Formats: sequence, structure tokens, C-alpha cells
Amino acid sequence: MPVGIIGHYKCGEHDMGEHHPENGNRLTAISDQLIRSGLDYVVRQFDSKPIDKSLLALAHTQKYIDFVFDNAPTEAKGEDKGEAGENFTVGEDAVMNSKTLTSILYSAGAAVDAVDLVMDGTLGSAFCATRPPGHHAEHDKGMGFCFFNNVAIAAAYAKQKYGLKRVAIVDFDVHHGNGTEDIIKNVFKASPKDDKGYLFCSSYQYPLYPFDIEESDTPPIINTPLAATTKGKEFREKLSAHWLPALHKFKPELIIISAGFDAHIEDDMSQVSLTEADYRWITDELKLIANEYSGGKIVSVLEGGYAPSALGRSVVAHINGLIGN
Ligand SMILES: [Zn+2]
Repeated sequence: MPVGIIGHYKCGEHDMGEHHPENGNRLTAISDQLIRSGLDYVVRQFDSKPIDKSLLALAHTQKYIDFVFDNAPTEAKGEDKGEAGENFTVGEDAVMNSKTLTSILYSAGAAVDAVDLVMDGTLGSAFCATRPPGHHAEHDKGMGFCFFNNVAIAAAYAKQKYGLKRVAIVDFDVHHGNGTEDIIKNVFKASPKDDKGYLFCSSYQYPLYPFDIEESDTPPIINTPLAATTKGKEFREKLSAHWLPALHKFKPELIIISAGFDAHIEDDMSQVSLTEADYRWITDELKLIANEYSGGKIVSVLEGGYAPSALGRSVVAHINGLIGN
């Protein structure tokens, strides 16, 4: 089955200010490495569509959605001052310029488009090369470079549209996916007594932003902290011990990946020291599980990764894993 990459050039235009690490060059770095590796000839590439605003309510309150839309700077309003710092602050380190709302809609739109392309059999699996990221966005607030939670929206959409009973979200970004956990608990109402058909596995350096995290081995939340000294061997041991048994027990009909690459040794955002080989390893493990329970269905969505070259190379390793090269 073909593997697809979904994105849109408008995702590159959101700008949180000069020297901000979450910038459009990240997507350029991914494109460059896809070309350099020859993968751009192997994968199918799709332009995403902007998400229907009503779908944001699958994971967020209408009050928060309206707050973002009503305050979004637009060029038409003459509010774009060029410097994002002068524009609208949604939450802690989540700032909108005149391009941001459009980027948000194409970014979330890619995640639901990816669900459609994988569920209708056009693709075996898909990677969304999009920004802004989403896993820190909670049901009623944006934070940590994130505005709306792309993976949580995609998971709820997959269940609503395709009647899936069990969707797993796995998050190997070096930061905890607090927004995804919040939505699973407070919007999807999942609990240890009733998982509601969701399983969330997150590995993260601890302590590190967003700090207030409880370790858990109880579904629907598997929170697996990593020490700052973690290298590939320990990362693999921890995920093998905590994630893989939970995923096998859950038997997901779709795996959605919050694919953050900021645990890479070259990424200054954390002290964890992973390499491309470790991202290939976890992708291979997730693919084995997807092959066993869902005919290989994986939707992967970019989260962090701020060292451009390492990000591009890690995405290549991840996509090679999805392809099985
Ligand atoms: Zn991160």
C-alpha cells in the first residue's frame, strides 16, 4: 500500500517572530531531505484542505474556538504588524500573526484528510508535514506553540466518520502531550473504568515543559517519563516495557502518531539523545502492531523537532519505516 505525505505551503506561513524555533524553515528542511533521499519519488504527495470549522469542536470548546477565530489578526483588518510578538497571544507561547489562522486550518485539515485517505484505502499510511503542531493544545486553551489539537481531532473524526471502536494515539515527542491527555479525559470522557475506545501513550523527558505530568501505566493513559540522560537503548527498553504491551492489549483499529523529533541528540530543545535509528525503530514497532490489528493503518502528524537537518533526516527515517524500505 502506498505511503502519502500531506501538507500545504500555507502551513509554512504562520510566524511567531524572528528566531522562534517553531518556524516555516522546519517544513523546508523536511522537503529538502525528502528530495535528497529520493523519497519524494516514492511517496504520494497531497495538498491538504482547510478543516471544516465544525470539526474543531470534536476536541475543543466552542468558546475557545470562537476566541481564536474572533481574535485572529487578518491582513484585511490591517492588524498584521509583521512581527508576531505584536499580534494576538492565544496562550503561553502561542501567538498568531495574520497568516496563523489559515496555517491552523490547513494543519488540522491535513490530519483529517490523512484519516480519510488511510480509511478509504487510498493510502496504507500517511505523514502530515504540517505546522503549527497541536499536542500541547488543551480543550479550552492553546499553549506551547499549539492552537488546536490535530491528533485528538483526527482520532475523534476517525471514530465518528468510520465507526472505529479503538483508536490509539502515540506521542514520542520529547515533551508530554498534555493537550491530548486533557482532551481524552475531559472531552472524550475516557477513564480507567471506561477507556471509550482511546489509548494514549506518551514518552517525554521529565522534568521538562509542561512539567505537571503524572506517570501512568493504567489505560487509557500510558505516560512514560525519560531521564535527561536517556539514549536510544533506554528509550527502546522503556517503550518496549510500557507501550508495546498496552498497544497489543488494546488492539487499535487505527494508530495516530504525534510525531515529534525534538528528542534528537542534535536538538537543543531537550537533553535526551536519540538518533534517526531510534525513530526508525519505534516506527517499525508501531507498524508491526498496525499490521497485526488494522492492516497497517497509521496516520502520523508532525509535532516538534527544531534542529532542521536532524528533523529532516528523522522524518526520512520515519517515512522509510512506514514504507518498510
Ligand atoms: Zn516537543
